[in-house]
Amino acid sequence: MGILKRIKPYIYLLVVITSPLHSATDVNLQLRWRHQFQFAGYYMAIEKGYYQAQELSVSLIEGGPNAFHPVDNLINQKADFAISGSGAIISHIQGKPIVALAAIMQSSPLIWITLKKNNLTRPHDLTNKTLSILNPIESAELLTVFKKENISLSNINFKQTNFTVDNLIDEKTHALNAYISNEPFLLQQKNIEYNIINPVDYGVNFYNDVLITHSKLAKSSPELVKVFTKASLQGWQYAFSHIDETVELIHAKYAPHKSIEHLRYEALQLKKLVMPELVTIGHMNPGRWQKIANNYYELGMVKSTDNISDFIFNPNDSRSPWFVHYMVISGLIISLLSIITWRFAYLTTSLRKEIKRRRYAENSLVSVNKKLKILATSDPLTKIYNRRAFFDKGHALLNLAHRKNLPITLFMIDLDNFKSINDEYGHKTGDRVLTSLCDTLHNKLIREHDIFARIGGEEFAILMLDCGIQNAESIALRILNCAHHLQIPTEKQTQLDVTVSIGISEIGMSEISHDIETCLNQADKALYQAKQQGRDQFVIYTHSDIA
Ligand code: GH3
Ligand code: MG
Ligand code: MG
Repeated sequence: MGILKRIKPYIYLLVVITSPLHSATDVNLQLRWRHQFQFAGYYMAIEKGYYQAQELSVSLIEGGPNAFHPVDNLINQKADFAISGSGAIISHIQGKPIVALAAIMQSSPLIWITLKKNNLTRPHDLTNKTLSILNPIESAELLTVFKKENISLSNINFKQTNFTVDNLIDEKTHALNAYISNEPFLLQQKNIEYNIINPVDYGVNFYNDVLITHSKLAKSSPELVKVFTKASLQGWQYAFSHIDETVELIHAKYAPHKSIEHLRYEALQLKKLVMPELVTIGHMNPGRWQKIANNYYELGMVKSTDNISDFIFNPNDSRSPWFVHYMVISGLIISLLSIITWRFAYLTTSLRKEIKRRRYAENSLVSVNKKLKILATSDPLTKIYNRRAFFDKGHALLNLAHRKNLPITLFMIDLDNFKSINDEYGHKTGDRVLTSLCDTLHNKLIREHDIFARIGGEEFAILMLDCGIQNAESIALRILNCAHHLQIPTEKQTQLDVTVSIGISEIGMSEISHDIETCLNQADKALYQAKQQGRDQFVIYTHSDIA
């Protein structure tokens, strides 16, 4: 247990140190020349762990006179990234699938170098001379300078030689394609005086040491390309901020063939061209690339200057899998939300319709119930209460009268000789008499609490609350009067005499045991007596009179 506890931090450290190595992506970078300060940024990005921080494991492929075709190496997939010159744009216009990631040198270090003793100091001095050039694409600005000076390239004898200053010293060539940061130093070392023909002095100011990659990689792995570029430029920033440290490292690890002094000379020369204090390292201006392309067009090295807009790498342009996934997922979310919204709207509408439908059904039911209730309690012809309702409501009113200690009177009304009215004037006229009598009584006599009902064919009953015997007599007289005054039109143009007989039963406050049937029975007896006595009159029921 004790040992395990002690070695635990070391195991953890081992895991931390080794785990990024396992997940790192292997990429390689084709250098443009032999190891030297020209590639300082990439060495320092490796050394300082900038690539590692981006989970990249970077291998460098050394270049040189025999391997001076970085664009081809990229296209042949021998390298993932490469460093080329401003001529990379020529390859791009010619249709080679490459994109530029960063221009390390804002101004080109390429020069023509000649021996001072030959007195070749201007481009014109090089006409009809032999010039050593490595690769026209990679040294394009050296050719452009002749164009600027109106010198035809056919007047110059170009030789593609193996590239050493010895060729110049031995006068196998009159001018050598050189780097301002390199060959002058070598000649100085040998105490050989030289002249420089610098394209910059003739208005040719191109980018150089341009970091490039294959368009396919830029499209398929834009993030990888982005982080590789970022880490490389971080390395460059470090290299120029720590020139001594960088020079020592390059000498120790990469370029032992170059002296510390030579490397430092190179660093200072290149710093003037990279201009890290003035320009963000790697900066590229699309307008400047356009000018470079125009220059190559004028020189006849490209047939057009179209299609250079996609030469500069733009990670946002790439339809990366991430972008596609993002678009697909966004599309799905939008579709899903639309479906949910549509469904919700559909359900809300359906629900609203259902609520409306039910409310309508409920209202219909209420109104049907109301009608049924009216039908159940009223007489269809006269629209007053029917016999059943009379008994129901009569019981309730009797109870109320007993509770409130109020007198209540029942009038039973029967049309006299109604059969003969029907016989003489027809059933319709008979109906008219019934409805007319009801309407009149309803309008003139019946109060809110009274119960007025048709209890038989031509028999009616009125139950009147708070109506004593004196009131009952006057009401009975008014009923008889109403019948007399009924105006019933007939086909025979004769006035119809309508009379009624009334039986009255009065329930005093003491007779609380009385129910509606008993009252009706008593009124019926009184009515019978009224009929017997000649009709068109009322009789009040009394116990003594009527047996
Ligand atoms: P009384 O004076 O003794 O009451 O004689 P009445 O003819 O009125 O009595 P009766 O019982 O002999 O006849 C009642 C008539 O009422 C018989 C019937 O045709 C008539 N009748 C009952 N209901 C209706 C109705 O709804 N419409 C019409 N037109 N006549 C009806
Ligand atoms: Mg009758
Ligand atoms: Mg009758």
